[in-house]
Amino acid sequence: MYDVIIIGSGPAGLMAGIASKNINSLILEKNNIAGKKLLLTGNGRCNLTNLKSNNDFLNSVDYNKKFLYSAINKFGPKEVYEYFNDCGLLLKEEDNNRIFPLSNKASDIVNILVKNTCNIKYEEEVIEIKNYDLYKEVITKTNIYKTKNVIISTGGSSYKITGSTGDNMVFAKQLNQPTISLYPTEVGVILKDKLDIAGTSIDNVIITYKKYKKQGNLIYTHRGLSGTSIMSLSEFIYLNTEKEIKIDLLPSYTKEELISYIKNYDREKEILTCLNTLFSKRFSLYLLERLNIKSEKIKSINSKDLLKIIDNIKELKYEVDRVCSLDEAYATGGGIDMKYIDTTTMESKINKGIYFAGEALDIHGPIGGYNITLALSTGYLAGKSIEEKL
Ligand SMILES: Cc1cc2nc3c(=O)[nH]c(=O)nc-3n(C[C@H](O)[C@H](O)[C@H](O)COP(=O)(O)OP(=O)(O)OC[C@H]3O[C@@H](n4cnc5c(N)ncnc54)[C@H](O)[C@@H]3O)c2cc1C
Repeated sequence: MYDVIIIGSGPAGLMAGIASKNINSLILEKNNIAGKKLLLTGNGRCNLTNLKSNNDFLNSVDYNKKFLYSAINKFGPKEVYEYFNDCGLLLKEEDNNRIFPLSNKASDIVNILVKNTCNIKYEEEVIEIKNYDLYKEVITKTNIYKTKNVIISTGGSSYKITGSTGDNMVFAKQLNQPTISLYPTEVGVILKDKLDIAGTSIDNVIITYKKYKKQGNLIYTHRGLSGTSIMSLSEFIYLNTEKEIKIDLLPSYTKEELISYIKNYDREKEILTCLNTLFSKRFSLYLLERLNIKSEKIKSINSKDLLKIIDNIKELKYEVDRVCSLDEAYATGGGIDMKYIDTTTMESKINKGIYFAGEALDIHGPIGGYNITLALSTGYLAGKSIEEKL
């Protein structure tokens, strides 16, 4: 009889195992290695956390933040930073408070978690959980385990190749635990018009969608747009019917400043040459072609065309056809309904002894180290709560 069986060895499960190491705990993982998704994070560099105060961290989470106060106050960004630092890992801070391992290796994060967590059994895919009054049965394809408590930390439902295949929803159904339907968040979009500038990127734009505004980089893809700016808006676009987005390509300039920049440029030079000082050559050409404006000397450009160019730089409009698929998303929206979770312990209010942590829950944060921290934080709270009650 185990004290706790933790299902899944992502950041949530591994940290739950660390927090409950003093009791008889075991992680069951269906892959033959731990943290397969974690290894992909931050392009293999792992943006571990976002080193803000707990309040600022939570204020940056757009959705369901009210359920996260206990977890973040117990094990928030500062504790995440200190934990890895105390384990001897050198960390560095990049722009916008983002923390990475100095080595730029996500594998360093996974190795520390695996080294310090409880025992892990690999290639053990859980297919059923039975919740009896006195104990629980965790049934895998090959074994049946008896345990007093279970932590379900099976992740979301994106990048399924990493093992996160939405089994939280399967277990929830078996346990009559209420859920919210899954949807993609932090993902690119497909545009109605096909554009021929895939690979072009702009470092810093502001995209407006309805009342939402997000700042970050923008990348043109074969199907549409990617980059942190549009990915941060994707969940709102997914959940609404309106499909127009407006992009400010140069947020640090006002329209008036841009007019004066162009007018004060060498007036004998072509407008394209001037735009090339603001954007890549390919993108400048695209802007003019899009407006059907020929590149001519700045002194010969009529003021109507000049205004059209400026309007397009400050308010470039696109129609989104659809948001990319859930499998391509960096995070999953929906999952275990937080209303039925005691957020001071992460225990289900309906199924005593069953706990949830990480992306299996209906929680997610923006890009920037938030999601790994939410997984570590809720995993820690679930593991510690079980250890403390025994
Ligand atoms: C490409 C990409 C880049 C990202 N980059 C970042 C980043 O830099 N910073 C950041 O904060 N977030 C990032 N994220 C998000 C972050 O990776 C996730 O939010 C986080 O991994 C969720 O942790 P988790 O432990 O809840 O679940 P997961 O990491 O998904 O782990 C779940 C584990 O459960 C196992 N499992 C599932 N079902 C079963 C079962 N039935 N039986 C046994 N085991 C099972 C899976 O195999 C998996 O190992 C990124 C996501 C992606 C896809």
